[in-house]
Amino acid sequence: MKRTSMAPIFFLVAVLAAAFPALQQAPAATRLEELRGKTILLFTPHPDDDTFCCGGTLALLAKNGNNIRIVIYTNDDKGSYDPEMTSERLARIRMHEEEEACRILGIPKENISWLQYHDGMLEYANPRDLVEQVTGIIRRVRPEVVLSADPGTDYVRWHKTDHRMAANNTIDAIRAAEWHLYFPNQRLHDGLEPWLVPQEYYFYVTQEGANYWVNIDSVVEKKLDAAAAHVSQFEPSIHRYRPDWEPAALEKLKAEFRGRMLKKDGHNVEAFRVATGFNQQ
Ligand SMILES: [Zn+2]
Repeated sequence: MKRTSMAPIFFLVAVLAAAFPALQQAPAATRLEELRGKTILLFTPHPDDDTFCCGGTLALLAKNGNNIRIVIYTNDDKGSYDPEMTSERLARIRMHEEEEACRILGIPKENISWLQYHDGMLEYANPRDLVEQVTGIIRRVRPEVVLSADPGTDYVRWHKTDHRMAANNTIDAIRAAEWHLYFPNQRLHDGLEPWLVPQEYYFYVTQEGANYWVNIDSVVEKKLDAAAAHVSQFEPSIHRYRPDWEPAALEKLKAEFRGRMLKKDGHNVEAFRVATGFNQQ
């Protein structure tokens, strides 16, 4: 579930980018967008945060033949003002929209896993069960890279319930996955060995937290098309559901997104915070 427009978060990122222009790129062994043939696991609170945070990066990773797996915490069944809408129907709509967005980015729907928590209710899930569930996913998928929401940024920790829970839960699960004594039943019963995630990239960062930027110039239009696939989340569909766009409304949305896209050194970018090794501290 989101606001009626992504404009506020695009604007926030743009403002912060302007305020902190001189930050240095963190060193990394291989550029994220240059990885090939790797397994990438992305955790997203809702079926659209993956598009908005990193649709360009995902398109580049897909083009490079990486195996991208998307795990979606909630079914996004609340974010509509349409008085005729029901949660069950909205969840189905959101699933199809997410599958279409992923298809545009080059990710097959078979690679999407839905944990099916209700929208806005993730913080009321049993925390221990949730960490165990996601630890099991990490141990099963054994990803070279995990992408997840950054728990430290203002927007995530204060303003968005599912984002808070998803961000913290994923990090806790990354930690647990490494140590065989966490949830030992997974090894005993399911044959899941511990897994140390080699690289973590956190999205929805503020600029002061960002230390890694991916140039998405070559896939900007793909990202905008994927964003537009979430039609039920925007005007006019969010108030009176319709599955398609008036061409003029679509162009207006894309122009707005294009104008507010994060820029660095004259390029369209997506920002991340790279963090490794914190399990040992
Ligand atoms: Zn969200």
